[in-house]
Amino acid sequence: MELRIEKTTQPKKRPTDQEMAGIRFGSTFTDHMLLIGYKKGLGWHNGRIVPYGPLSLDPASTCLHYGQLIFEGMKAYKISGGGIVLFRPDQNMARMNKSCERMCMPPINEDETLDAIAKLVEVDEAWVPSVPGTSLYVRPFILADEAFLGVHPSNSYLFATILSPVGAYFKEGLAPVRIYVEDNYVRAVRGGTGYAKCAGNYAASLKSQEEAEKAGYSQVLWLDGVERKYIEEVGGMNIFFVIDGEVVTPELNGSILPGVTRKSVIELVKSWGMPMSERKISIEDLAEAYKSGHAQEALCTGTAAVISPIGELKWGDTVMRFNDGKIGEVSQKLYDEITGIQTCAREDKFGWVYRVK
Ligand SMILES: *Cc1c(COP(=O)(O)O)cnc(C)c1O
Repeated sequence: MELRIEKTTQPKKRPTDQEMAGIRFGSTFTDHMLLIGYKKGLGWHNGRIVPYGPLSLDPASTCLHYGQLIFEGMKAYKISGGGIVLFRPDQNMARMNKSCERMCMPPINEDETLDAIAKLVEVDEAWVPSVPGTSLYVRPFILADEAFLGVHPSNSYLFATILSPVGAYFKEGLAPVRIYVEDNYVRAVRGGTGYAKCAGNYAASLKSQEEAEKAGYSQVLWLDGVERKYIEEVGGMNIFFVIDGEVVTPELNGSILPGVTRKSVIELVKSWGMPMSERKISIEDLAEAYKSGHAQEALCTGTAAVISPIGELKWGDTVMRFNDGKIGEVSQKLYDEITGIQTCAREDKFGWVYRVK
């Protein structure tokens, strides 16, 4: 696929590294964006990197009415010596195709699309911050843009990628979060779209998130949508526990989003020779393990925060405080190892790092 590059004639004022470190997540964007069109019969075409700016959409575009809209999220890091790397972007491309399949959207060419994203990062390389803990967040997405109000998969799509410099997710480093167990609303059910990174899953979660914030919690923990009994995941992050020295996480069941960070944590824990299991975990069993002193740590994993220790988990009247509300040993070790690999400060034994330049 040909990629046309049209550079901006009016570059924005790039924030200093210091300013970038304090930016609110996802609120500042770079000078360029990547766009690729799709038409049935023609396939993906007209790839171009153009100045960042508003998209023009027909108001009848199907994504605006029926939500055919998926996205991805990954990060680019500046490494010592000035190179730029992405962390496991092949996983994001593969997941994007799984989301496409679920939402009746055409598959992307994973390699070509990744090349185009890497090219965009290179064009805006001055925006990759280099202060420790900072990175350039990469947000690819695909929307349906056929002007048609029938309920039917669109015949026309737009693939886009925008870039956003981000500071450390938690300003004080690894700060434990307070989470509230949601046992009223549900996010996803088996057979639904939980495993796809589609916009609608997030729209469905906002109400619960808003109530959690009002009650002083930063995120909600979702239970399974059928029995509201088994632990699934947290907002935009997967969840792990350390119980009796074993690391456990809910097994993928179709309603949990298969996180790249989740997968990396599982692979790392196994490589350390620690017991690791993916299984069903009921909230009752967790509360039981907590009360009897067997649950040592709880942590969330995701691209944005990498590792986010859980200080407090509230389920009805039961309040679980893990590791005295402090960062646990396993959480810290995972954070150090993953962020070390992401910035090439530690050896990349698994071949996870993708070199942009
Ligand atoms: C993106 C996402 C995650 C985390 O996935 P990563 O690939 O690790 O960033 C977890 N849960 C949901 C619902 C998500 O959308």
